[in-house]
Amino acid sequence: MESCDVLVVGAGFGGPVAARRCAQAGLDTIILERARVPGEKVVSGLVIPFYGFTFGPDFIREGNPPIERPICRVVNRFIRDGEIYATDSTLRVPKPLALGYAAYCRPFCTWLADRAVEAGVELRTSTTAVEPILEKGAVKGVITDRGEEIRCKVLIDAGGTQNRLAIQAGLRRKYLPEALELYMVWDFEMAKEDVDETFGLSMEFFHALPEEGIGAPLGFGSTLYIFTYRESIHPGLGQFLVTRGEIPNLARLLPRYFENFQKKVTRWKRDIAPKVKLRAVTWDVCPIYAGLIPETRNMPVYGDGILIIGDAAGFEASAFGDGVPSAWFSAELAAEVAVEAVRKGDASRDTLREYERKVWEHPYITWIITDWRRWDLRKVLVSRSEAELRRMIRDHWGVGAFRYRYSGRPLLKAAREALRRDPRAPVKWMEMFTRYYHNWEENRCDPLSTS
Ligand SMILES: Cc1cc2nc3c(=O)[nH]c(=O)nc-3n(C[C@H](O)[C@H](O)[C@H](O)COP(=O)(O)OP(=O)(O)OC[C@H]3O[C@@H](n4cnc5c(N)ncnc54)[C@H](O)[C@@H]3O)c2cc1C
Repeated sequence: MESCDVLVVGAGFGGPVAARRCAQAGLDTIILERARVPGEKVVSGLVIPFYGFTFGPDFIREGNPPIERPICRVVNRFIRDGEIYATDSTLRVPKPLALGYAAYCRPFCTWLADRAVEAGVELRTSTTAVEPILEKGAVKGVITDRGEEIRCKVLIDAGGTQNRLAIQAGLRRKYLPEALELYMVWDFEMAKEDVDETFGLSMEFFHALPEEGIGAPLGFGSTLYIFTYRESIHPGLGQFLVTRGEIPNLARLLPRYFENFQKKVTRWKRDIAPKVKLRAVTWDVCPIYAGLIPETRNMPVYGDGILIIGDAAGFEASAFGDGVPSAWFSAELAAEVAVEAVRKGDASRDTLREYERKVWEHPYITWIITDWRRWDLRKVLVSRSEAELRRMIRDHWGVGAFRYRYSGRPLLKAAREALRRDPRAPVKWMEMFTRYYHNWEENRCDPLSTS
């Protein structure tokens, strides 16, 4: 049996951020990761919104993480009879600003984990936490698939959607199927010049009436998007697991819809298909509106000896690309509370409750898990009203997204707080945008400035 101060389960996006901060505070910290490599998935990339970097952990902002491509514009294309009949590209910013950065999970999470290891964290890959060690209802560590017993003063559960530790500890229940969305992602190679010429620094969404048969079964081509990377693109198609009370066979339907999309949509047939080569197909499940469903939101995110962060805590709304920032934000809050608990020698529920208070004060996490307008997408898809869809696009993926009532308010709150802590924050943000832009142009990813 061994022991440490803080044990972090999961080296995805949140785990290494929490672990690094605990190690920097002098705590003996271990991360367990079941995959061989942090962030390992068959193939998976995403777009991390700018505010994740702007208001997220300093070491990411000050470093050069592996970024594939800055995203400066979101293009919404409305499709009828395979042709684009309308486009909304009002959500755009000039270079070197970015709305987000496309990144592959594996190099990005490996970069994060390397920074944690540099700070003194012990990273154990290919190791799964199979069950928590419980004593009188308090979490005291985990048992691994290698039969080891690792005890700790505080456990940070950063195990994502599929992890069961918090459920086994009796703290949370499984996500409701209606909160889950299945994503299929097609990874296509595409030469950099072709991505530059076809997409520039944009990502694209496609919306079509259900009768077109190119969107997900729920209605409009809800999350039929194309994420763009340095030398590849990812069309992705998502669908809730439960649709109007029915459980569609998504494993069969999603590939069929994507095939229709490839056959019918001229934008794909003419402009994209001749330049791409399929490399891999993958799927994953997201707790897409988990935080917005009161039942999930009311489940605890802490217990005796345990703090739960990121997807495991339901802090995700990735239909709008928010999963990674809230994993980072919650990781930092959990680490602060864990450090304090270890120093006090008290990791009881009463001490760890502070984490929940901090979560509820955080401008972005609360926005992600409480703003009912985020349900709009789902409601619109069920209503099948094109007018509603257009309104939703403007408010979420168009210029309306910056309105004060929508993301403007949390953005301003977070900016005010950052300025209070450091008046030079705006200069640092500009430096970050410029550095990340160069990082993309020069394919540079050095860890030099992260100490
Ligand atoms: C297809 C898809 C597209 C997405 N697109 C976006 C996007 O564009 N923008 C965005 O911000 N978010 C996006 N997300 C959401 C984002 O990926 C998550 O919100 C984010 O990864 C959450 O971070 P996390 O640290 O909580 O969990 P994860 O990053 O999932 O990390 C969990 C880690 O824990 C490990 N693990 C799990 N259980 C155990 C165990 N028992 N023992 C040891 N290790 C364990 C896993 O292997 C994994 O490495 C997307 C998700 C999917 C599936």
